[in-house]
Amino acid sequence: MAFEFEFSPDQEAFRAAVRAFLAKEVAPIVAEMDATEEFPRASVAKMQAEGYFGVPVPEEYGGLGLGKVGYCILLEELGKVDASHGTIVGAHTSLGTTPLLYYGTEEQKRRWLVPAAKGEKLLAFSLTEPGSGSDSGAVRTVAERSGDGWVLTGNKIYVSNGREADTIVVMAGNDVKLGPNGGVTAFLVDTRRPGFQVGRCEKKMGLHGTSTAELILDHVALGPEHVLGEVGRGFHVAMTALDVGRVSLGAASLGGIEAATQQALEFSKNRTQFGLPISEYEVIQFKLADMAMKAQALRYLVYHAAAHQDRMGTDPKRWSRLERAEKTREAAIVKCLGSEWAAAVIDEALQIHGGLGYIRGTPIERAYRDARISEIFEGTNEIQRLVISRDVIARGL
Ligand SMILES: Cc1cc2nc3c(=O)[nH]c(=O)nc-3n(C[C@H](O)[C@H](O)[C@H](O)COP(=O)(O)OP(=O)(O)OC[C@H]3O[C@@H](n4cnc5c(N)ncnc54)[C@H](O)[C@@H]3O)c2cc1C
Repeated sequence: MAFEFEFSPDQEAFRAAVRAFLAKEVAPIVAEMDATEEFPRASVAKMQAEGYFGVPVPEEYGGLGLGKVGYCILLEELGKVDASHGTIVGAHTSLGTTPLLYYGTEEQKRRWLVPAAKGEKLLAFSLTEPGSGSDSGAVRTVAERSGDGWVLTGNKIYVSNGREADTIVVMAGNDVKLGPNGGVTAFLVDTRRPGFQVGRCEKKMGLHGTSTAELILDHVALGPEHVLGEVGRGFHVAMTALDVGRVSLGAASLGGIEAATQQALEFSKNRTQFGLPISEYEVIQFKLADMAMKAQALRYLVYHAAAHQDRMGTDPKRWSRLERAEKTREAAIVKCLGSEWAAAVIDEALQIHGGLGYIRGTPIERAYRDARISEIFEGTNEIQRLVISRDVIARGL
């Protein structure tokens, strides 16, 4: 296990560039996006042009080649500015490009990964169904063989980017009786395909810039080249993508913690009550100390896990059982702690703002609404605890 970690000059330069970009192109539009609840098309297009939708993808496949560490830097910086943009990038990158990069054939990489990494096409990932949430192996969307291809029929829900995506990685049952052990396959579904339709888009508490869409698959015919990975191994494809997603979600939570702490710090220095800035009161100081502790601890966890994933590479066939187990436990810990610490820090930061923190349109009020979902999506925190406890019982600490 390696513990030493240092950002390279290139990684530091990338962070500075991202920070400047977000300050100019994203921060100014966030309040309006939150109010109008519209997908931020213009800023997403600018991010795509910068290469920010292909950060961990190798340059030979159209990406920036900055690995998981670079990707977490992007998500951390996005987490400071806006969770909707972070989710749009995350659904595309962690959940869309990872399956292609790790399991795609060379032909599939050229056809789907390259345009996605270059920012020409948007991806999404669809596992959840009305009857299959935490029990994600219980998908009921059916994939039936037809000649050498497949026909997909069923309903998916809660798909981030589902309304805007060009291609969606869809998990469907090649044999629903087998469930996760051989019964689920990953398919690449282009959204212009006959039989594909976007259904209801949810109104949400937060993440107002993102779509959370229902997908209706009515006999969508696909050729064999649309099968991603082996038939029956879709659950593994999904879990590999989620391991990447959970670490990047930790990075987004880290950004949320840092921004909320900064806002609370500034407010507490400037808000005077009983003749003193409230930062002079020990109760407030200890809240700031708790925030700083969580930020520092999470920073180590996120980048340790990201660097570990970079060292493991992108070929699942080369991973030992032990390496897989370590990676999965680590990702679950980062996701679970990160999301809970973000929720706690943002809650305390809102408290420090007093009544102002509850007023619609303040950054801390938006952050409070946006942060809650991180304890739920990409596997609820109850499920993360199941993953962690099973591994602890099997292997010890
Ligand atoms: C905004 C948003 C975006 C999303 N984006 C995507 C996406 O892009 N792609 C996608 O596929 N899905 C997406 N999801 C779905 C998300 O991943 C699921 O909502 C989540 O996994 C939980 O599933 P569920 O809602 O069916 O809850 P359920 O599984 O019904 O869980 C309900 C409660 O029961 C608990 N529970 C369930 N089983 C157990 C157990 N065995 N032990 C203890 N507790 C348990 C859960 O932790 C939870 O508290 C998104 C959801 C939202 C809200």
